[in-house]
Amino acid sequence: MKLIRFGNAGSEKPGIQLENGTRLDVSGFGQDYNEDFFGGDGLDRLKNWLSSNSENCPEIGEEVRLGAPLCRPSKIVCIGLNYAKHAQEAGMKIPGEPVLFFKATSAIVGPNDDVVIPKGSEKTDWEVELGVVIGKKASYVSESEAMNHVAGYVLHNDYSERAFQIEREGQWVKGKSCDTFAPLGPFIATKDEISDPHNLNLWLNVNGEQLQNSNTSDFVFDIPTSISYISQFMTLLPGDVISTGTPFGVGLGFDPPRYLKPGDVVELGIDGLGTSSQVARAHK
Ligand code: ZN
Repeated sequence: MKLIRFGNAGSEKPGIQLENGTRLDVSGFGQDYNEDFFGGDGLDRLKNWLSSNSENCPEIGEEVRLGAPLCRPSKIVCIGLNYAKHAQEAGMKIPGEPVLFFKATSAIVGPNDDVVIPKGSEKTDWEVELGVVIGKKASYVSESEAMNHVAGYVLHNDYSERAFQIEREGQWVKGKSCDTFAPLGPFIATKDEISDPHNLNLWLNVNGEQLQNSNTSDFVFDIPTSISYISQFMTLLPGDVISTGTPFGVGLGFDPPRYLKPGDVVELGIDGLGTSSQVARAHK
């Protein structure tokens, strides 16, 4: 199943996208894609409900805005430097254990919303990433159990302001959490739709030029390792998103570095998870 949310920002409704691309409004199901949904067997309940109600679900027009395909979760946990070649371009060592940082959930926007270059920013950068959506509470889980805690996968652009992230005092969170810095979607693909999450091509273009093009087979730490590792330090709740790191080809890695300016168009995609596109604009 492919879960979407649609409508104006702040008043999105749940929907699904069928194999043929048709989008259906499933607000009649009565529950949005939140912690209770994922943690309360919502995927199974929705599937059952659809088997007798899908014919009565209104179609969603193609012009309708997509929101992020889940309600604001308790956290976005990001893995840093999880592709060897990206660690190299960032001038950092391949870490001996996963590097974790948070991204504020207030940064979440729809997949095709504008990315706003923050006030005072000169180094707004892109990062195509595979997001893992948690389906079941995870605390001290083993690597062998970890995949039972996954609901599905989602495309994420982990926008990053490099001066805020690296040149300012303290932790990376300041450069990762600006409003609009977490476009998610177009949809969540449930786990059964992705046969091997460790063999997915992912790519990103800026103004039509391909700058990132890699495969999740290059992860330093795979998904079970990451889930198990994170769960030793905090409880992952249903609906939480783990962003698994970005491959080579971010703006920081170019000589000279390349950063976004108003009007730039960023497009990205991952096998089986669709594509998204953001236009950069200045903060008003
Ligand atoms: Zn990242």
